[in-house]
Amino acid sequence: MRKLIAIALTLALLLTGCTVAPVTPGTIPDAPIISDPDPVAPEPTPEKAARTYESVSVQLYEKDSYVYIFQVNAEMTEVDGCRYYFEPTVSEVQREEFISAQTALNEKLSAPEGLSFYVLRNYTFRSESENGLAFYEIGGTATWRQALVTVQLLEGDAVNYGWAYARADALARELGWETDSFEAPEDMDAMFIKDPGRLNLIFPCFTAPYSTEEEVAAAKYAALLLYKNASDETLGSFLRSIELYAETLGLSFSPTGLQFYYGGLSLPMVVVTKYTENRIGRDYTGVDDSQLYVIRNIGFMLQVLNVNDSDIQRAREKMHYSEDSLVVIRYDNMLGGFTYHGSKINIVVGCFTAIAHEYVHYIHYKLLPSDVMHYTWLDEALAEYLSCEAEYQGYLSIVYTMDETERAEYHIDSLDEHMARTDLKSVIQEVAESGISPIDQLTAYGKYYAAKAYMGFYLASEYGEDTFIKVALDPSNIESYIGISRDELFDNWLEFILAPAA
Ligand SMILES: [Zn+2]
Repeated sequence: MRKLIAIALTLALLLTGCTVAPVTPGTIPDAPIISDPDPVAPEPTPEKAARTYESVSVQLYEKDSYVYIFQVNAEMTEVDGCRYYFEPTVSEVQREEFISAQTALNEKLSAPEGLSFYVLRNYTFRSESENGLAFYEIGGTATWRQALVTVQLLEGDAVNYGWAYARADALARELGWETDSFEAPEDMDAMFIKDPGRLNLIFPCFTAPYSTEEEVAAAKYAALLLYKNASDETLGSFLRSIELYAETLGLSFSPTGLQFYYGGLSLPMVVVTKYTENRIGRDYTGVDDSQLYVIRNIGFMLQVLNVNDSDIQRAREKMHYSEDSLVVIRYDNMLGGFTYHGSKINIVVGCFTAIAHEYVHYIHYKLLPSDVMHYTWLDEALAEYLSCEAEYQGYLSIVYTMDETERAEYHIDSLDEHMARTDLKSVIQEVAESGISPIDQLTAYGKYYAAKAYMGFYLASEYGEDTFIKVALDPSNIESYIGISRDELFDNWLEFILAPAA
């Protein structure tokens, strides 16, 4: 059949008598095919890209986690000004599939040159936009996941997750790639009415343990719907689309200024606030209900983070501390927290409500590196005093998890009321009755932590806040600020605290 057509074409050309223009291979069969006695033409060899690979050993850090490093041997090739790194076990076919998928995506998104794509077998999908790096699992080639990571790479790791997710879905559809699948939520509106903070569609709305499976499905569904309803594909229109949807629910929406993104396998959630960079790897198993309340109510979580920032801002002003670098906080399965120096991780905490407290310690130790350790009562007094709003949020998280009757009994409307109702007096009573000198108790850690903390409020109320801060920043000269010695101060404090309530 092929031979016949070929002959007919040759004849047609001859008959018209015109000059035959140079032919492009493939459009008109050339002579050898006509004269080929074999009826089956040889299969053309598939065009094989002549890729050259360079073997490299790559040490990869999970960005700023300072904890998790993995080393891989990779083979690197350059295509259109971008670098592609493959684990050696990734087959030739898989590599070509990935490169062609990524090239199509890069073209669609007008990606710049100089990006690096790592295709690994046992890692995860993650972008590191600051350094132009993106990581992919080989099994996700030409799926919405590849599109999502590329959107994050180009728009910033912390770009609104819901928008990036919906944008990736649209790109996957345009390219004929695999899209995400999930069960449509039963009542999407109800979820947002219960927790309006979820309207932000930030990263924790799309992942456990911050969201249930049902909540993740509702967030995904909402993101796709609101993206579709938006006037164009930009982030601004998407946020406007959320705002309009919020209005239909009788809610108001203004996007959070906090940044959330996926940080990798070791510390999966990252939150960046004005003063802190929080890297959260803890799994939250076995934590109490109040802590779960903070992380599973996105609106409350945002409130706690904002209150920490305002406490921190106040503390910085009062302590005249103005360094700009973000304090790096790692979350671990621990109660409370502690502060490091000389490490890239500055603070370790167990919960969001301890951030401001530990931040105050951090700068206090920085300002008084040697002195402050001799005044443990004073450092807790200062940290508690300057982080009291955040600490109050911690109290609220306990109240919110109570049943209705208990809640009515314990609910308080203000920080002042909270301070007034603290059961500190009973702790002090116990201290007094123990027969151990108050100074010994105050200089030791442990049970009397709360009492030490309350000293700050006493000092501030008796001598003024400014004087208290001066004492905290120059404890060895206490007498020059308050006119009495430390021992006298303790005696007065104990008398004050043990006095029967008026
Ligand atoms: Zn402390």
